Amino acid sequence: MTEKILIVEDESAIREMIAFNLQRDGKTPLQCESAVEAERVIADEQPDLVLLDWMLPGISGIEFARRLRRDDTTRKLPIIMLTARGAEDDKVHGLNSGVDDYIVKPFSSREMLARVNAVLRRGRDGGAEDKVSVGDLTIDYAAHRLHIGDGIVNIGPTEFKLLSFLVRHPERVYSRSQLLDHVWGRNAYLEERTVDVHIRRLRQTLEASGHHRYVQTVRGAGYRFSTHI
Ligand code: CA
Repeated sequence: MTEKILIVEDESAIREMIAFNLQRDGKTPLQCESAVEAERVIADEQPDLVLLDWMLPGISGIEFARRLRRDDTTRKLPIIMLTARGAEDDKVHGLNSGVDDYIVKPFSSREMLARVNAVLRRGRDGGAEDKVSVGDLTIDYAAHRLHIGDGIVNIGPTEFKLLSFLVRHPERVYSRSQLLDHVWGRNAYLEERTVDVHIRRLRQTLEASGHHRYVQTVRGAGYRFSTHI
């Protein structure tokens, strides 16, 4: 099965670069320059996911995303926003605008594909993913267990939540304060070094199998989960 991915982006160079990389990853890319055009293509082609640029001529990406969310036929269509660094990514991050994920320009094809595949994977189980696997590491959300190879690994509840969050959002760097928000919740008033403590414990948990290398420190920025070492 090849997934149809609709790219809505008025800058043709970016659009074609994305289409090229999606095709190489076995997807079927569809291309549109505006929301108006995209509306028609969504109705005709029923794509599996939309990569939607924030800045579009006419209806903006964020406004179009809201429209898609309001409409019963497209309410569950996965959307990944493309934003410019700065105000837009802060907004889309804070907005809870109903988009499934967002990518900040400029981005690598590797990051783009990792996000597309992560969102598609979530969508396949009707949004309620039970398990996610990366190599021989499997996070079983339903059972709240971490499997590595054939064994079950003992992991603390906070480390489990932290790992789950990072695995769901691969290839992106999260600052300590963002991790506090996402993993501990916005109402938790904790020091940022709490994150470091749990990252250290998580790495210790993963060390025996060598998976600690996926939990990466990005100097001056935060932490990232990546299988590229
Ligand atoms: Ca644009």
